Amino acid sequence: MIEREQEEFARRHPRSRELHERARRSLLAGVPMSWMTMWAGGHPVYLREAQGARLVDVDGNEYADFCLGDTGAMAGHSPEPVMRAIRERSGLTTMLPTEDAAWVGEELARRFSLPFWQFSLSATDANRWLLRMCRQVTRRPKVAVFNWCYHGSVDEALVGREGNVGPMVDPAETTRVAEFNELGSVEAALVHGDVACLLMEPALTNIGIVLPEEGFLDGVRELCTRHGTLLIVDETHTLSAGPGGCTAAWGLEPDAVSLGKSIAGGVPIGAYGVSAELAERIAAEEDADYEDTGGVGGTLAGNALSLAAARATLGEVLTAEAFERMSGLRERFVAGVDAALERHSVPWSIVSLGARAEYRFSADPPRTGAESAQADDRELGEYLHLYLLNRGVLITPFHNMALMCPATTEAQVDRHTEAFTAAVEALY
Ligand code: PMP
Repeated sequence: MIEREQEEFARRHPRSRELHERARRSLLAGVPMSWMTMWAGGHPVYLREAQGARLVDVDGNEYADFCLGDTGAMAGHSPEPVMRAIRERSGLTTMLPTEDAAWVGEELARRFSLPFWQFSLSATDANRWLLRMCRQVTRRPKVAVFNWCYHGSVDEALVGREGNVGPMVDPAETTRVAEFNELGSVEAALVHGDVACLLMEPALTNIGIVLPEEGFLDGVRELCTRHGTLLIVDETHTLSAGPGGCTAAWGLEPDAVSLGKSIAGGVPIGAYGVSAELAERIAAEEDADYEDTGGVGGTLAGNALSLAAARATLGEVLTAEAFERMSGLRERFVAGVDAALERHSVPWSIVSLGARAEYRFSADPPRTGAESAQADDRELGEYLHLYLLNRGVLITPFHNMALMCPATTEAQVDRHTEAFTAAVEALY
């Protein structure tokens, strides 16, 4: 069945294949970024243009895009307010702040109930810099994360998976690892008194979606407070839960939040916000070189372009109304998937997080990272991704994740339902 889909893929993408052949002569692995090799089909599809949730490749194939740049385009592709802000911005990077920076800081403070913000160019860097500041203010050497987490290419958080590339030191020296939804394992990680901060997603989204069980996040907050460990909530993906991510939707009280990907509508940005207390502790560190070459910051971080784009995105695109609409579309998406699974008695499940949904190849949604990893099926995943792609539907290549943007249409959701139902029929 995979072979048949591969033949169809080859038939539909001659121009992409040509471009890939050419790129192989100048780009490592033939792609500008190694993750782009992960699409099913043997080579990536080359982009011609993308608007809203509609994407067109160089062979003229059109797609309903539920991958949305793995969340980088949660605001939709080329949203008009962002394109306008980019065109109108005079001076892209100057080392001077703009009024947009204060506006975005105020807006993020309102959404996440954390008063002080700063910006990077990626969520990875937001996390990296927060880890350094947490170690600085606590004088503790280690950090804690959850098994099967992903927080960007942050050295300390690259644990538990195979193939860590050129680690600086063995992450076992820097990091204690707990299991999501297992409070006992969190206690065991923190009890030594050497963990500066726990970096976590409020729901795992990088090993399928794993939702927190009742009381788990309250328990984590309580354990962090008891053991003097700072709690960082990474909302880069879970922002899909609403305008203030899970922090606002579920009333979380982290010491810091990190963000990135979507909040400038596709223009590179990361952000981190801290509580008043943590801000005070950071400022009190007179010997820490935050400003110059001490290891926190970047030349283009906080640049005028990224903040103009963030203001347009947060002010006019990823609004509270937009999230409501996106969540409604996700309900329609889930209903379509559920109906197909029920009709053919397929033992899979689907998990939702606001504007996002993900189907899993297990009858019950996994409750830990380890369980979730076990529920994966590479071959089945490849078939499904390729089947959908050949019928004009893109979902995130690494897993079965689908995201709605403000411009996603009901017709696009229905196109997915139709293709998914046909795939299930072919399989079962
Ligand atoms: N945090 C989370 C939860 C992520 O999923 C990712 C990337 N998938 C990142 C941080 C890092 O984002 P970036 O690669 O844009 O720096």
